[in-house]
Amino acid sequence: MATRRTFVQSISAVGAAFAVSGHLNLDASPAFAQQVDPLQGHFHPMGKPPSRFTIEVLKQAGADLPFSDTRDFDEQKKGLLAPMKDLKIMADAGHVAWDMERFQFLNQKEEFDTIHPSLHRQSVLNNNCGLYEVIPGIYQVRGFDLSNITFVRGKTGWIVFDPMVSKETARAAWKLFQEHAGQGLPVTAVIYSHTHVDHWGGVRGIVEEADVRSGKIPVIASHNFMEFSVSENVYAGNAMNRRLFYQYGLLLPASAQGFVGQGLGQSGSAGAVGLIAPTRIVEKEIEEFEVDGVNMLFQYTPNTEAPTEMNTFLPGMKALWMAENVTATVHNIYTLRGALVRDALNWSKYISQALYRFGLEAEVMFASHHWPRWGNARIQEVLRAQRDLYAHMNNQVLHLANQGVTINEIHNVYQVPKSLQTHWHCRGYHGSPQHNSRGVVQRYLGFWDCNPATLIPLSPAESAPLHVEMMGGAQKILARARELHGQGKYLLAQEILNKLVQAEPHNHSAADLLADVFEQIGYQQENPGLRNSFLAGAYELRSGIPQGAAGKSSGPDVIRAMSTELFLNFLGVRMDSRKAEGMRFTINLITPDNGEKFLIEMENATLTNIKGFQADNPTLTLTINRSDLEKTMMGATTLDAQIAEGTAKVEGDAGVLKQLASTMVEFEPRFEVLPGTQARTAEPLKADPYEAVPRDSIAE
Ligand SMILES: [Zn+2]
Repeated sequence: MATRRTFVQSISAVGAAFAVSGHLNLDASPAFAQQVDPLQGHFHPMGKPPSRFTIEVLKQAGADLPFSDTRDFDEQKKGLLAPMKDLKIMADAGHVAWDMERFQFLNQKEEFDTIHPSLHRQSVLNNNCGLYEVIPGIYQVRGFDLSNITFVRGKTGWIVFDPMVSKETARAAWKLFQEHAGQGLPVTAVIYSHTHVDHWGGVRGIVEEADVRSGKIPVIASHNFMEFSVSENVYAGNAMNRRLFYQYGLLLPASAQGFVGQGLGQSGSAGAVGLIAPTRIVEKEIEEFEVDGVNMLFQYTPNTEAPTEMNTFLPGMKALWMAENVTATVHNIYTLRGALVRDALNWSKYISQALYRFGLEAEVMFASHHWPRWGNARIQEVLRAQRDLYAHMNNQVLHLANQGVTINEIHNVYQVPKSLQTHWHCRGYHGSPQHNSRGVVQRYLGFWDCNPATLIPLSPAESAPLHVEMMGGAQKILARARELHGQGKYLLAQEILNKLVQAEPHNHSAADLLADVFEQIGYQQENPGLRNSFLAGAYELRSGIPQGAAGKSSGPDVIRAMSTELFLNFLGVRMDSRKAEGMRFTINLITPDNGEKFLIEMENATLTNIKGFQADNPTLTLTINRSDLEKTMMGATTLDAQIAEGTAKVEGDAGVLKQLASTMVEFEPRFEVLPGTQARTAEPLKADPYEAVPRDSIAE
């Protein structure tokens, strides 16, 4: 498989106007390319050490944490059969797909003055890597990717739960498992717990598609799995990719001043992502059936951690698989990279159902991230606390909103109850109380705080100059901001510096000072997404936006999973309507191999489509098999070429395809987030985040 750069070059060479693009995440960290000694100094020449205020904040935070509860460490190491020997896993394409070496520095010190002690603890826990026995008959390989892979003994072989992100990491996990516990038995079934890529992307590392197609190996997933496995990331995909640079700190090397893990796991792997469609779908609230001779109860949990997801209970083993609905963290209600806000109350109710249906008798609980919980009392403790965590977040935020607390205040008002704060798994290593509480308000009330002044405000660049003028100009702001910075009042310093950076994007003193402020705020965060976002902001203010070719296309498996309707909808997003003024045409699209028909209409500078309809007198009728259309969608060929070779047949005015193509824009994820950073781009270290394998979907 080509790296992102070569892959992108090959695409642009054919100039595929209709290729689906803009929904890759660029998730290779330059830590792969940079030689940083995480214990020595700062990775960035302009980086700063923690201030005495930051050191004090972190010390105080440590004092309030329940360090006497060390059960996670016992659970994390219980059942180790074989550690991971080689801490690096190579991709078939030749680069490093997975690297645990870069996180080993976290084990070398008791505490760091640039890492929140709670986050440090979680990252040390996530440094576990190897093969573990959950109970006899259930094994997990952990620390080979962002997520775990689980093997359950069936009658004739192994049932795999959630084959991680990449083919290469899944294959390496399978190899380790076979060396110690697999007994040479084959994979007999695969279960995808939900739609995020870290739960299916590595499937081609453990099964052959032919065996799935022939029915030999069933692949089980919940209702609408294929639709949601791609659709969540398509429409706003390019913006999400850009935001991943913040949430996942993609430019930050692993170091005490940089990236220290992602909370759910250390990071996502950068190997080859594949997708094999499920062959058995769970859609009822509870479905009970045998998988390779093992009786399983599937609990369908839509609209929880993912749009479609399922927990599984194995009554014969008293083992409860909680998918990603219950892990060792508060999960995201709102996701910083961007996604529809999740339903915390619904999530809580499904945990409650799992508790009362299965949790009262389960003796072991395991999941797709983190480590298992043993013993019914412990399982109930965790399930009850997680149930209450999400319900509380929903209810108390709405309680406060009903008393006038707005989306712009709620994160400073809402607090997780003290009794939950003392559970480690209720702390925010993925979601945080701050961004989740704002998410709940967003879900129910939206962005507006009901103050008319914020209803149709000026854009920041338009309002900031007046602020700067009224504050007495840049020098005054800088002087006051330095004072605030010197007093450790970073949130106040950020207020005025942000105005100055918005008003004067090329004021380097302002950008540098704001970077210093962001950095201290970042060091102080318990939540890795918040930490990474502030440190990424500091990075871009100092070094600009990384250059290089932008990732542009999706792998064949993901394109196959995309419905024609989704593809056509996305063309409407990619179209620059300003280029379509005055265009008017209708296209009847027929894809004979799957029997679908669409009426596509261009009118009012808007591209629409309706499935199952045809125009009486279309400008053009385009007939092409869906399997051939996929080649166009991937950018492997163009519609023009397909028409010329007869793969696609046209009747009417084929010129409208050229018109349509002329309106299409290629999204690229290097747009400016912070003003002035585009121009500041010089030589941003040696990193090239684009030198990686194209990624299709976003892990979580
Ligand atoms: Zn996940």
